[in-house]
Amino acid sequence: MQKTKKVDPILHRQKCPACEYYTVYRAIPAGDKALDTCTHCGHQVAIAWHHEIKAVFKNSEKFLKNLEEMCPELKELRNPGDHIKLD
Ligand SMILES: [Zn+2]
Repeated sequence: MQKTKKVDPILHRQKCPACEYYTVYRAIPAGDKALDTCTHCGHQVAIAWHHEIKAVFKNSEKFLKNLEEMCPELKELRNPGDHIKLD
């Protein structure tokens, strides 16, 4: 018998369109949608939740990893509530 995997909320970094900081977002899956919330300003967006979503987050992580070379401050984005302003 196969158990349904429990999906934990995913923390990921991105630039928030509402507060314009680079912040930690928390995606909480709910069926085929997920609520993605800025842990700094509370801005919420519903995103489609599908099996490739982790790859999507991985890609943006890759992008931010590259950006870290120019902006090492991004490495400080680790915990909910962290936010960084870049020029
Ligand atoms: Zn925000």
